[in-house]
Amino acid sequence: MNNLAAVMTDIRKFEFKEVPMPTVNAGEVGIAVKDVGICGSDIHFFNGDAQKIFPDALPFILGHECGGVVYEVGAGVEGLKAGDCVAIEPGVPCGKCEMCQTGRYNLCKKVRFMATPPHNGGLQKYISFPAHKTYKLPENMSTMEGALLEPLSVGIHAAARGGVRLGNSVAILGGGCIGMCTLLAAKACGAARIIVADIVNSHLDKALEMGATDVVNSKTDDAVARINALTGGEGADVVFETAGIAATAAQTGYVVRRGGTIVMVGNILGDVPFSFRNIYIKEAQIKGVFRYHSTYPTAIEAVSSGRIAIKQIVTGVYAFADAEQGFVQALDNKEQCLKNVIHID
Ligand SMILES: [Zn+2]
Ligand SMILES: [Zn+2]
Repeated sequence: MNNLAAVMTDIRKFEFKEVPMPTVNAGEVGIAVKDVGICGSDIHFFNGDAQKIFPDALPFILGHECGGVVYEVGAGVEGLKAGDCVAIEPGVPCGKCEMCQTGRYNLCKKVRFMATPPHNGGLQKYISFPAHKTYKLPENMSTMEGALLEPLSVGIHAAARGGVRLGNSVAILGGGCIGMCTLLAAKACGAARIIVADIVNSHLDKALEMGATDVVNSKTDDAVARINALTGGEGADVVFETAGIAATAAQTGYVVRRGGTIVMVGNILGDVPFSFRNIYIKEAQIKGVFRYHSTYPTAIEAVSSGRIAIKQIVTGVYAFADAEQGFVQALDNKEQCLKNVIHID
């Protein structure tokens, strides 16, 4: 067997290179990667932004949303065998620190996360991975759905942090991939009214298709006034910031209900002017979301049982040889692209 990787060698550039077959150590499985979702964080490398934080990153292999098929099982691994379709959870925490011990392993400082320097990602034919972060998929799930469990996990964790319950009203500010995954998770949790705000009409159409009850174009409409009107003047029980921009973050306090919860999902780099008076008057709470923990079993059940149709978020599938094109399209065509996936034959 020969391994081949799509190596990012320069901004907007991949080169296919033969790389060594991975060593499958004790406790690991060898996986033939089949599907890799392109994430916003991959795009940040592809367009050069992330190199401001990781100046020595290149050459680098991107991709952390992976589904594949087990081809080899390391010593001591139980419950997985060659031929199993699997999803991998890309973050491997230390398992020993206080955060790991208390279950919030997404906050582990020593986590090894795929496609975060110095750890290469999954845009290659074969990888090895710890078996305890490799999940066998039920027969009715594809490896592509396995790859999509990663962004879905962010939505599931966000809905859990927000405490979304049956009958709740929810406002999601930002209708990109993570906004949509949050919508799917909130809907599965029983939210009755789900309002999605975005500035791109195609995203809003997609949100309606996926179960939003109302959409607001915040470019042409006053999103704060509309969301309040749609919730009887009260605001939403749970508000999610998923756009990752200062303007939507500033809106959250104005559209949350009294006693409600704001969940910050987007990654906003700069400081944000924010009216804490809203938080005070409403006794609202703000919660952060960093990746996810303990979501994969839930995500698998939700997709396998049909509660969440995650495949809907896919807008483009590209062959391995066309990986660069898949990235270029995701970068240059943000309005149409929600999630591009690279399929490796
Ligand atoms: Zn991702
Ligand atoms: Zn740890």
